[in-house]
Amino acid sequence: MLIIMKIDATRAEVDRVSGKVRSLGYVPHEIPGERRVAIGITGNRSKLDPGVFLNLAGVAEAIAVSKPYKLVSREMKKENTVVRVGDEEIGGHEIAFIAGPCSVESRGQIIEMAWMLKELGVKFLRGGAYKPRTSPYSFQGMKLEGLEYLAEAGNLTGLKIVTEVKDTATLPAVAAVSDILQVGARNMQNYSLLEALGTTARPVLLKRGISATIEEFLMAAEYILSGGNYDVILCERGIRTFEPSTRFTLDLNAVPIVKKQSHLPLIVDPSHGVGVWDAVPSMALAAVAAGADGLIIETHAHPGSALSDGYQSLKPSTLKPLMERLRRISEVMDRGFCAPVSPGAEVI
Ligand code: PEP
Ligand code: MN
Repeated sequence: MLIIMKIDATRAEVDRVSGKVRSLGYVPHEIPGERRVAIGITGNRSKLDPGVFLNLAGVAEAIAVSKPYKLVSREMKKENTVVRVGDEEIGGHEIAFIAGPCSVESRGQIIEMAWMLKELGVKFLRGGAYKPRTSPYSFQGMKLEGLEYLAEAGNLTGLKIVTEVKDTATLPAVAAVSDILQVGARNMQNYSLLEALGTTARPVLLKRGISATIEEFLMAAEYILSGGNYDVILCERGIRTFEPSTRFTLDLNAVPIVKKQSHLPLIVDPSHGVGVWDAVPSMALAAVAAGADGLIIETHAHPGSALSDGYQSLKPSTLKPLMERLRRISEVMDRGFCAPVSPGAEVI
């Protein structure tokens, strides 16, 4: 249920409604709007009677939310959510652009890549230190050592760090160095992890599971918001279909559908979505044209020798012309796009 407060409702009136919600055994979530405050109510007790709230001072309306997900839904909050990441944001005017290797492979690799990306105007650096791999014999990531190198790359360049958290055991270490915690597709329904992220003070980039419906995807995000962490960025990264010529099928249908159902920012990962590097630029451009709020793209200076996902990684020399085209398509979508640090600077 959603309680809409009157435009002139006082702080005390809002607090009294929240107190009433708590006294009934539910959890209130204050949602500040442009003109008035709303209070989302979650909990798994029996049906609530809207009449309980309607005669409290300052209450304008009590609305039942029809979707199974509540806090993530547009019914709860009409305005787009902008997730703040330090002095940057995701879901605002500018298309967010996250780039970097699939995995941190060495100190030199991640620092060199961070500087290359910085010069291109990129503000968010990705790189996995903990890698959940299909095969136990594949490279599992540099773990704590990888986190140290990521932190150093972030400190040196000022880039924001996006890295994957694989489980609750490593969450404190990963949260200590990351600006955004990535939840991988394989973990979208790891409910213990989602619950732990609900009480972690870090933005979360939640990837869609490879066989998850849009509703299941939004329900996974609901876990994090219902725990009290409202800074969730959704990420469409492709789903499994019967088509074997691409790694996954990038479900760009999900972009307008999710944007209609949810106020959360949604970015797209064309690298995993299509899985072959030369198809990544087309799908990146298509994602922005479809209305995505950002992109996450795998890049590697030497894709041929990458320890994971080299075949879907772009070289910085391919990334640069792509970014030029993304800038143009962002303009068509009335959005901004990151600018190079020193315009015209050559990338090695
Ligand atoms: C990744 O970003 O490298 C990754 C493993 O992604 P996903 O969880 O989408 O497979
Ligand atoms: Mn990868």
